[in-house]
Amino acid sequence: MNELKAQIELLNAMNKKLMQDAKILRLICETSNSAFLYYNYGENTLQTIANWDYFFDFRLTDMNDFPRFYEWAEARYTAPLREVLFLEKRGMKTAAIEVKARNSRMWVEIETNIIYDDMGKPADKIVRFKDVTKFNSQNDELSYVAYYDLLTGLYNRNYFVRLLGEFVCRAKEEKKTVSVMFIDLDDFRLLNDGYGIIVGDEIVQMFGQFLSDFENEDVIVSHFSADIYCIGIYDPCGERSVGAIYDKISAGLQKPFKLSGGLEIPIAASIGVAEYPEAASNTLELINCAEIVMFKAKASGKGKMQNFDGSILEDFLQNVNIENKLKGAVFDQNFMMYFQPQFHTSDRVLRGVEALIRWKDNTGKTIHPDIFIPIAEKNGTIVPIGTWVMEESIRLYAGWKEKYHYPMLISLNVSAIQYKQPDFVDKVMQILHKYDVSPEEIELEITETILIDDFQEITEKLETLRGMGVKISLDDFGTGYSSLSYLKGLPIDTLKIDKSFIDTVVTDENTRIITESIIYMVKKLGFETIAEGVETQEQFDYLTEIDCDNIQGYYLGKPMPPEEIEVLIQKTLA
Ligand code: C2E
Ligand code: CA
Ligand code: CA
Repeated sequence: MNELKAQIELLNAMNKKLMQDAKILRLICETSNSAFLYYNYGENTLQTIANWDYFFDFRLTDMNDFPRFYEWAEARYTAPLREVLFLEKRGMKTAAIEVKARNSRMWVEIETNIIYDDMGKPADKIVRFKDVTKFNSQNDELSYVAYYDLLTGLYNRNYFVRLLGEFVCRAKEEKKTVSVMFIDLDDFRLLNDGYGIIVGDEIVQMFGQFLSDFENEDVIVSHFSADIYCIGIYDPCGERSVGAIYDKISAGLQKPFKLSGGLEIPIAASIGVAEYPEAASNTLELINCAEIVMFKAKASGKGKMQNFDGSILEDFLQNVNIENKLKGAVFDQNFMMYFQPQFHTSDRVLRGVEALIRWKDNTGKTIHPDIFIPIAEKNGTIVPIGTWVMEESIRLYAGWKEKYHYPMLISLNVSAIQYKQPDFVDKVMQILHKYDVSPEEIELEITETILIDDFQEITEKLETLRGMGVKISLDDFGTGYSSLSYLKGLPIDTLKIDKSFIDTVVTDENTRIITESIIYMVKKLGFETIAEGVETQEQFDYLTEIDCDNIQGYYLGKPMPPEEIEVLIQKTLA
């Protein structure tokens, strides 16, 4: 009995001590300005302790409620917060983070401690929430500038790159994808120059605000600079798929933006998309890829979206390489002229030659003009290249003329930028004079695109050249606007029907009808016709039948070096 009494007294004493410990613990908790969360893995129980309501207006019942924290914190903390709250996934014991609440100015330090059992399995998790607003508020403004773009309130570029990096890390672990949408407003410079920078800024702001609607735990939006924005999407699917976001952007841009001054401005944006891991394995490369793809989208017209595909990147890198080599090539003059013969259809007699440039880079590889001419047009090197083409072709032609006295035409491809040079007409005349070639012996090929930008200026120059006797030929007819009615007003002599027509002229009834009516109309207008890219006897026969004046193509002659043209002239004369 005594023994029992002694035991009860001992239990009572222990109980009292425990209660006191609990009281002390509670007191410590309550005065610490903190809240705690305790989770027991074995029993799967979750308890919130101390000043919970001071921090949160929600309660937690189990681990599945943890996403409430992501709603409570600012979106940029979602990923780091997830890492700290689920430390056991990385086998870590302790970690802390400072987080800003979404709807108040409160800063909270969140520290997690995990206690592992002897087997190394997590047994207890304790998370402490501590108010650190006092320490952080002075830094608030500074950190705002560090994270956000002041004009739009979106993440700035640096912080976006960091957050996107976290997406990529997480995707690596969870075997998911991350998409980047690189967005560039179309014609923003025109708007900025036309309406002024205040209006420009307002457009940037409004568009930023519009994009911020897409932000959530898995979608981050950033303003990079001027008119460039970037969206990062973790595990794109459903509502947050690239397609769904693009549809919403397109729908939002259907109506013009209403600015504060009452001005209504239509906005369009070009978007490039790249996805981790398909396009790139790291964050910066991923953004770069999306930017390159955006350029491709822009090149295909306004308001377009382009998805990544490996060939875009390859083309881009090749172009950069070519651009670098091209600058050197202009000085080294690693170019050659080839000539492709043109024949009169009726008797297959040589009408003339089209001058086609060839470039052997310093590794001896031949680069085709289809690839480097557009680059040369963009970086301006087409001007010296074009002058070289003209001089070299006319020089060679003058040699043949002197040797064989065979009357023929030399056709030269001329780019828009060349026509726009103020001294273009003078330069042509100087070269003709230098080699004693008359204007009637040359034909300049233009494309319809040349006429779009500066119709007036260029047609005036063409008129001047024609007035002197130079022939003008419209190249690639059928690939551009191709309206027969506008041909009437153009200062041209010859029309070249594009290869794409000739390709299917034998097999496709519609192409036949179109080609026949082109030839009929063009003849009525008094122009000469040339069919390009004629490769077969059937095509040749058909074009003879419908009375096309001239033929150019592999069937009768490929582009060839000058020596072979000489042989051809000799044969013609024989
Ligand atoms: P283009 O003016 O339409 O020239 C015709 C192109 O078609 C040439 O390609 C020629 O080799 C090719 N071709 C001709 N007949 C056939 C055929 O029967 N079958 C096939 N499959 N192809 C045929 P090339 O020489 O590669 O020139 C490509 C383009 O580069 C030219 O197209 C022209 O736009 C541009 N270009 C070439 N040389 C010059 C130049 O000196 N100055 C400028 N500005 N552009 C040039
Ligand atoms: Ca041509
Ligand atoms: Ca052509």
